[in-house]
Amino acid sequence: MSRILLLHTGGTIGMTRTEKGYRPDGKYFREAVFHMDSLKTKDMPEWEFMETPKLLDSSRMKASDWNLIGSAIAENYDRFDGFVVLHGTDTMAYTASALSFMLKGLSKPVILTGSQIPLCETRSDGRDNLITSMMIAGDAKVKEVCIYFGGLLLRGNRATKYSADGMQAFVSPNYAPLATAGISIQYNENSFLAHRSGKFECRPFAEVPIAVMKVFPGIQKEVFESIFTDKLKGIVLETFGSGNMPGDPETLLPIFAKAADNGTVITVCSQCLQATVDMNAYEAGSLLRSAGAVSGRDMTTEAAVAKLHYLFSVYQDADQVRFNMERDIRGEMSQKLDL
Ligand code: ASP
Repeated sequence: MSRILLLHTGGTIGMTRTEKGYRPDGKYFREAVFHMDSLKTKDMPEWEFMETPKLLDSSRMKASDWNLIGSAIAENYDRFDGFVVLHGTDTMAYTASALSFMLKGLSKPVILTGSQIPLCETRSDGRDNLITSMMIAGDAKVKEVCIYFGGLLLRGNRATKYSADGMQAFVSPNYAPLATAGISIQYNENSFLAHRSGKFECRPFAEVPIAVMKVFPGIQKEVFESIFTDKLKGIVLETFGSGNMPGDPETLLPIFAKAADNGTVITVCSQCLQATVDMNAYEAGSLLRSAGAVSGRDMTTEAAVAKLHYLFSVYQDADQVRFNMERDIRGEMSQKLDL
């Protein structure tokens, strides 16, 4: 029988109501989980329960919290066949992306899940999300960082939160689901991560000054000037369509080129959920290429943020970060064959 670790980090699933709104409640959740009969049936793997030191609303998480989760998995890696991380939905796609980079050479399932309605409420979706995630972790078929939510198993670094109200909160618009859970769990093995990079190790992230900026029609050059400080290591630009920028290229080019010269890695993603950036498709996108920006291709913003953190934790040199940003490391982007 397989053994899995259930790691509670916070989020709606384990919250109870307070005067100020829902808040993580470790004692309530622990007792609820230990009393859930369905977690003790023969269909379930054996499990152990752990908590991170401070249970958080995931909107408050930062890189050091990703490190805590990564090291909890790494410290217990040999003792378990799979891991379920209970997490808030707001930043679950960021944490899943971060873990996918941090846990190098991963060969066991790490499934992040949570719920839209707390487990303490009658209509909670937490029960199914928890049970199915535990079964998927116990099956140990998929050996990568995933999000299971509302019947879909998605690659973590391809997923994005799509709904704040619906029970199917996540989608992965540029990548097929790894499994769907209806009456049975149907794995889509063709979508599983094929390459794995060597021996397992956890590579914690440094705190890196990174920004995300969504462009809009009429955005002023001063906005770029104020954000491109000397300290800024990386920025994810959410551009229009396939990587197009508003504004006058002649005014903007020197601002972007100066930022790139200062060592800021400008990564171009799209505001469209379903998109692949191609900075050569339109003149409006070629400005970015001439200014030294790199293409995020079909990466989510969440994956691009986590990848910048990861690469800047591994490399000092901005050119090495630029080079690797455009390469698929953990299945976060479709291969660019003409690079
Ligand atoms: N604010 C909550 C969190 O991200 C939302 C949720 O879990 O659904 O922790």
